[in-house]
Amino acid sequence: MYLPKLIPFGMLLFQEHDTNKSANDLVRRAPDAVPRGYIIEHCTVPGVVALTFDDGPYTFTNHVLDLLDQYNAKATFFINGDNWSRHIDRKSTPWPETLRRMVDSGHQIGSHTWSHADLTAADSATRRKEMFLLEKALIKVLGRYPTYFRPPYATCSPQCLAEVEQMGYHVINFDVDPKDYLHNQPWTVDEAMRRFSQAVDAGQPSSSFLVLSHDVQEQTAKTLTPFMLQKIHERGYRAVTVGECLGDPPENWYQFSSPWETGTYLNRRFANSNRRRIIVIEQPGLHGLWYNDMLFIQPIPPYLFSTAFWDYIYEADLDLAKTLAGFMRSYCLLIRHEADFRLATGPSLNLIPRLPDDSGSEPEITFERFVDFMAQVERLDDAHVSPRYAYGFIRLSKLNSLSFLFFGRFAYFQVHRQLSTYVASFMAPVVTLFVVLSSVLSCMQVALAAQSTTAVSLSPAFAVVSNTFAIVVSIVAAVGIGLVVLLVVWVEMRNLVIFSLSLFRRPIF
Ligand SMILES: [Zn+2]
Repeated sequence: MYLPKLIPFGMLLFQEHDTNKSANDLVRRAPDAVPRGYIIEHCTVPGVVALTFDDGPYTFTNHVLDLLDQYNAKATFFINGDNWSRHIDRKSTPWPETLRRMVDSGHQIGSHTWSHADLTAADSATRRKEMFLLEKALIKVLGRYPTYFRPPYATCSPQCLAEVEQMGYHVINFDVDPKDYLHNQPWTVDEAMRRFSQAVDAGQPSSSFLVLSHDVQEQTAKTLTPFMLQKIHERGYRAVTVGECLGDPPENWYQFSSPWETGTYLNRRFANSNRRRIIVIEQPGLHGLWYNDMLFIQPIPPYLFSTAFWDYIYEADLDLAKTLAGFMRSYCLLIRHEADFRLATGPSLNLIPRLPDDSGSEPEITFERFVDFMAQVERLDDAHVSPRYAYGFIRLSKLNSLSFLFFGRFAYFQVHRQLSTYVASFMAPVVTLFVVLSSVLSCMQVALAAQSTTAVSLSPAFAVVSNTFAIVVSIVAAVGIGLVVLLVVWVEMRNLVIFSLSLFRRPIF
C-alpha cells in the first residue's frame, strides 16, 4: 500500500520557512498580514477609502447596500447582535438575509460585540460572552465569524486588547469621524458631510482613509452615504473594505467553525472555557475523547518530530506508524489558527515540545513551520491512519456504550456514564410518584381488609374506587417501565448510528 512519505517532518522544522510553499488548507489564514495587539486606525494601502458602518443591521441597511452596489463600492459593517435590531440570527427577522447580502456583495462583516458593551469597563467573563454570543449568531447565519473587531465607544484597554487578540481579532478604529451620530437630523447632517469633505479634500492621491459611520442613522443612510460615495468617486479614490485597505486577503477576514461541533478547536474551547476544559493527559488511548465538560488531549511527544523515528517505525511496525500518524492528524482539528498555536505552546498546556538542535539550544517552533509540518499530516487520508483516528473528537460515553460491539469489552474506558446521570435526573420524581401511589394503595387495602373482619361498614363505592385505583396504578407502572426501556434503546440506537456514520466520515478541515 502506498504511504506518503512522512519522513521530512523533522527536517522541516529546521529549514528556513518558504512562504510560497505554505499555501495549504490547514490554516485558512495566511500568515498575519495585519498586526494584532494594538488598535489599528489607518489603512496601509494607498488611494483607498474604507467606509465602515457600525451598530447595524437595521432598517436602513438595505438602502446603504443599494447605494454601495450603485457605486460598485465595498464597505465594512461592524455588527451588533442585540442593539438596534434583535435576534439577528432568527429566521423570522429580516436580519439573516441582510447579513448574507453583505457577504454575497463582497462587503466585509466585523464584530461590534453582542450588545454594544464597553469592553474596557467590562470584566473578562463579560468580554468573552460579548464576543462569543455574536460569533455564535454569525456562525448560525453565515457559517463563519469575523476576525475584525471594532470596540464599541472606540475604547479597548490593554487588558481588552490582549483578550480579543487571543480570540483571534484585529482591533479597528478609524481616522475620519464625521460624527454622523451627533448630526443625524435633516438640518444638521450638513455638518457630518462637511467633516468628511474636509478630511478627504485635504488628502493626496496616495492618501487613504478609514471612516466611521452608522447605518442605523436615517440621515447617514439617506444623505451622508450617497454624498461620501460621490465624493470618493470624484476624488478618484476606491471604496474598499477594511481588510482590503490593510492588504489582507478575504480568506483572512473570517474564522470557520468546525463541522464536528461549534468550537472544536483549542482557542474556542478557551473562549468558552466556563463550559469546556482541556485535560492534558499522558494516556494516548484517551486522546481526542471528551466526557462531560472535559476534552482529553495527549501532548505531542518530542520523538514524533524526529526523522529517524519515522524512518524506523514505518519499517518496524506499520500499525503503530498509522496510529501515530492519526494522532498527529488529530492536531489539525485542534490547532487551526495562530491563536490556537499560541495556546498550545503556552505554559498552561505545553502540548507541543521545544526541540533541541545540534547546538543543544531549543529552537522555537514557529507557527509557519508548524503549518508546513502539519500540512503533510493533513494530506493523509483515512487509509493511512488507524481507524481509531478516522473520526474527530468523540464523546467517551458513546464509545463506552458501543465498546462491546467494537472491542468486545464492556467499556472502552470506565467512567460514570452520562446516560445514568441523565436517567437519574428524571428518576427521582418518578420514584416519588410510585411511593405516593403505593402508599395510597396500601391504605386502601388495609381498609378493605378491615371491612371483611370487623363490623366497620364501608360504602360499596369505596370498594369500587379501590379496585379501579389498583388497576390504574398497575397500568401506569407498566407503561412507565416500558417508556424507560424504550428511552434506553433509543439512546443506544442513536449512539450506534452516530458512531457508525462517524466511522465513514473523514474529518472535514
Ligand atoms: Zn457602535
